[in-house]
Amino acid sequence: MRLARICMPYIVVGVSLEIVLASGLLLVAVIGTVAAYMRGKSLHEIQSASSTFEIVAQHANDGIVLQQADATILWCNDAYCQIMGRDPTFWVGKRPQKWVYPPDLCPSDEEIEAFRYDENSGELGLLRVQENMRADGSRFWNQTSVSAVPGVRDGERLYVLSCRDVTKQVEREAALALANEKLEKAVNYDALTGLANRRKLMAFFEEALLEANHRAHEVGVVHIDLDKFKEINDTHGHAAGDAVLIDAAQKLRRLKPIQGLTARLGGDEFIMLVPNLVRADVLTQIAQDFLNAVSDGCYWNGIRLNYSASLGLAVSAEKCRSSEELINRADFALYEAKSKGRNTFMIYDAPLARAHVEKKRLAADLAQALRHDELSFHFQPIVNLKEGRIEGFETLARWHHPQRGLVNPGQFIDVAHDIGLLEDLDMSAMRAAIAAKQHLRSCGFPDLYASFNASFQTLQNEALADTMTWAMDAADFPRHQLVAEVLETVIIDNPSQDMTVAQQIARLEAAGFRARLDDFGVGYAGLAHLAQLSVHGIKIDRSLIRQICSDVTSKRIVTAILSLANELKIDVVAEGVENLEIARQLVEANCASMQGYGIAYPMPLPDLIAWLHDFENNMWTDIAQPEAKQSAG
Ligand code: C2E
Ligand code: CA
Ligand code: CA
Repeated sequence: MRLARICMPYIVVGVSLEIVLASGLLLVAVIGTVAAYMRGKSLHEIQSASSTFEIVAQHANDGIVLQQADATILWCNDAYCQIMGRDPTFWVGKRPQKWVYPPDLCPSDEEIEAFRYDENSGELGLLRVQENMRADGSRFWNQTSVSAVPGVRDGERLYVLSCRDVTKQVEREAALALANEKLEKAVNYDALTGLANRRKLMAFFEEALLEANHRAHEVGVVHIDLDKFKEINDTHGHAAGDAVLIDAAQKLRRLKPIQGLTARLGGDEFIMLVPNLVRADVLTQIAQDFLNAVSDGCYWNGIRLNYSASLGLAVSAEKCRSSEELINRADFALYEAKSKGRNTFMIYDAPLARAHVEKKRLAADLAQALRHDELSFHFQPIVNLKEGRIEGFETLARWHHPQRGLVNPGQFIDVAHDIGLLEDLDMSAMRAAIAAKQHLRSCGFPDLYASFNASFQTLQNEALADTMTWAMDAADFPRHQLVAEVLETVIIDNPSQDMTVAQQIARLEAAGFRARLDDFGVGYAGLAHLAQLSVHGIKIDRSLIRQICSDVTSKRIVTAILSLANELKIDVVAEGVENLEIARQLVEANCASMQGYGIAYPMPLPDLIAWLHDFENNMWTDIAQPEAKQSAG
């Protein structure tokens, strides 16, 4: 039996090299000197030799043992006896293995019998840490080292074993390792789902791409976004939302190929990376399997939560080997999957690549148009039909593209957002609104208010109220004639931003401007939010208004909104009034202000001026008549 063999059951733990070396050096030095001194002498000679070594050996803190090649102990110092918890008389003449190991680590009798120190094994002189047991059965970590004393005892080799109880160090190292592990987790993993985070993902991504460069393999990216996740949060609370995220993470984990990595990017967004991808259909299979798995929903507090997801897939290629570009492609595919109605996946293929290029071109053109002030604005009147007068107008962006013709905001607002220019657009609209007001003043319409649409980006601007103040003061208009229309969803979707939308609205109102909630009634938390906001008014969404004549529910919702607004003393505008009948119903329901194609389309300023002059003769004033007549009577 060789030393290597007997060392097998040792558990060598992560004691840092420094600790081992520091504690071992002194001992090795002492043993080295003793060994050199003993070389060529008999045991008797050694024992009766200079007392210096005995003093050193007996007073060393480390255990020192003199052994034969078969491990039989010839002599040991006090420290060894203390470490092991037995006296010298016990040890001399015994092979220690049977007594120093805990039962589960102890070699068999045959192994002990067969054991011999082997100088060729390369094990001699090495420091090892192993788990040992004291006489009282308690376990501890023992650091040992063995060196040979050549040529002593009539040609038979002797061995000096030194040891030291390093339990404290081992435990400290273990605690440190645990703390490190926790730290590593906190830095690289998402606390809720246990998946990797963005940081870990990006590091992994770079490595995977580097490897892909050396091989014929590619890297696959699956970008996952849960559909309408906010609805779950809003309907059932955040604990339910968390349950869904955990469920989705588990399902993704199960589908991940062995070498892949799944990360949560934050919110309800995930990315799965598949390195060493040979065929793209591996990705589509993962996507399909995930959609299937998700269709089962998950159970939370005894209720079933249904959810779905949209996925965008992209594969690296010769010309696409940057993580940023790949994520960008997967992101575009995801966007397409969403616009296809969600609960589906799209792979970034040739047609999608073309659409992507097209969108990028649109973005570049739009950036240029914005820079050169090439966007124009149309104005749509807002009228008070109860009183038969014009209140104001909404400012709506129009883009006259040299090749594409008139591009609607529906097509470019998202692009403006993506390229970070939505705020510029809003500010252009605000300036256009004020310029239109100046022109209208000179044409005999001094009091119409102007509204413009303020996106989330615009509302994040700390200086918004100042900018508006400066613009209105410079044109010498009262501030209440400038209205910022804020989408209801902006407030619901961004509750915890630095500058909350609610704060911005309060600031605008305090400065004398007016804020109005746009597209009101389609957001699920609309009514609940209303009481907490200092908005001056709301604009009921056209999807509700359009149906008030044909759909009882829509009519009920509109009626409820109107009575709540009345109670809260806030103004209401109905938008999307497409015909006379809707207008009548609204007046009947006590909603006076309205806007819609039925009254007037958005139009360029000259057309608006002509329309305003003609309003008196407009058939719409008829609607005001019965009421006016009634009150007169
Ligand atoms: P919005 O703020 O809800 O504006 C009203 C939209 O409804 C306008 O579409 C208008 O043309 C349309 N509309 C008006 N009356 C009717 C009607 O009776 N029936 C129907 N079906 N539609 C009607 P537009 O001009 O295409 O604008 C679409 C959206 O683009 C706007 O919706 C607004 O959210 C956004 N938008 C437009 N200009 C700007 C801008 O300068 N900044 C920002 N942030 N968004 C803008
Ligand atoms: Ca609007
Ligand atoms: Ca609207």
